[in-house]
Amino acid sequence: MTRETPEWKAVKTSPNMPLPNEMKAWVLGDPEELTLTEKVIPAPGKAEALVRIDAVAICATDLEILKYGTPALIEGGAPFNKNYTPGHEYMGTIAALGPGVDEFEIGDRVTVEIHAGCGQCKRCRMGMYTSCHNYGKNYGDVDKGHRANGFTTDGGFAQYAVNNINTMIRVPDDMSDEEATLVVTAGTSMYGLTELGGLVAGESVVVIGPGPIGLLAVAVAKSLGASPVILVGTRENRNEIGRKLGADYVIDARNEDVVARVMELTGKGADYVVDCAGNETTTNQAVKMTNRGGRICLAAFPKEPVKFDLGYLAVNNIYLYGIRGEGRSATHRAMAFMAEKRFDARLVHTHTFSMEELPTALKYARERIDDAIKVVVSMGNGPKDPKTVK
Ligand SMILES: [Zn+2]
Ligand SMILES: [Zn+2]
Repeated sequence: MTRETPEWKAVKTSPNMPLPNEMKAWVLGDPEELTLTEKVIPAPGKAEALVRIDAVAICATDLEILKYGTPALIEGGAPFNKNYTPGHEYMGTIAALGPGVDEFEIGDRVTVEIHAGCGQCKRCRMGMYTSCHNYGKNYGDVDKGHRANGFTTDGGFAQYAVNNINTMIRVPDDMSDEEATLVVTAGTSMYGLTELGGLVAGESVVVIGPGPIGLLAVAVAKSLGASPVILVGTRENRNEIGRKLGADYVIDARNEDVVARVMELTGKGADYVVDCAGNETTTNQAVKMTNRGGRICLAAFPKEPVKFDLGYLAVNNIYLYGIRGEGRSATHRAMAFMAEKRFDARLVHTHTFSMEELPTALKYARERIDDAIKVVVSMGNGPKDPKTVK
């Protein structure tokens, strides 16, 4: 029996959520090599809970990690062949509580943020735990208690995962498992627009790139009272979802002059531009379509240096800032919007697979098979979703 260890002695469990001896977990070997195996169920420590994973969404960053390793960091290095389980956009049911945890109860449905910073460094103290200075330091002599689930610790392509209580958000009874996995994506968009950006109602927002973050940025911007909200995209099926999520205007980048059209719609340029593509074309468009004193949020990870008119930013007092995830509990606020049904995030969820079908799910996400946007792996604990592919 694995739970006779000292860590488990202090953990609260319940007969209502019986724990198996071991859990199924996907483990990364060499790049792109995932194997379904059995692992010991981790014990939650102080300020932590054990979550039974009910559903996990696939993110472009997962595909990146599987191929290149980065931005995952396990024991100070690349995540390959370290018995590491990826997956970070998950939700589930609390199955056990660490010592002293009274903020949640066993049986609570929760969705999670990824980052629990160290809580000690300058950025964590500011609430910018995504930018924690002790990122990845959670092992051996440098254990600062930092966790970024699925990046620096084991994640959600498994039956159970440990989470810090600060990273968990209760899920309303009428929200499906699949929808709840999308909260952290909406929270990332929210953090970019409000906490980092300072958006107030009535300001104009342009979102370039209708991927999951871009589409939910449209939804969040609209819910926050931005006006107008403009989406720039090339794929009509995604542009259409953008309209349903609240875009007042959609610009088809294939056959319109994007900058000229934004100027026409906003007069002096957009107050906010969220660039979710981050290539040379979109960066230059973003710079030239931003109003004086406006802000550009870079929500993409360009692999190559990008050439653009830096002087234009200076002359026009334009702010440029990057965003690498959620922060300052923006995910909690995104859940408030979704619980109130201010927008229907389910529109970006296109496919559901079982845990055993993870490789197929990854393939759908990677190759955008059947116009896949958000692909979700569901453990089948909740009600069946009609989008399940058989
Ligand atoms: Zn993600
Ligand atoms: Zn920190």
